[in-house]
Amino acid sequence: MPLYDYQCQDCQRIFEVRATFKEKEAGLQPECPYCQSKQTRQLLTLGLFLRTSAAGDSIDLPACGPSAGPGCCG
Ligand SMILES: [Zn+2]
Repeated sequence: MPLYDYQCQDCQRIFEVRATFKEKEAGLQPECPYCQSKQTRQLLTLGLFLRTSAAGDSIDLPACGPSAGPGCCG
């Protein structure tokens, strides 16, 4: 059963929810285990993390800028 990260909009806590795909498709709205609020939303933590860390490697920074210093451009 897949695990989903949810964040409570009331207390801002993050918790994990196990749900089947069927439950998920039906519009899963789990309640916060800390304050029992129904104001929860799914977090896409893993996707965001992967995207952020990948961007650090692949981003094209300007190598020859005013702050690059002499000798940088060859
Ligand atoms: Zn809460």
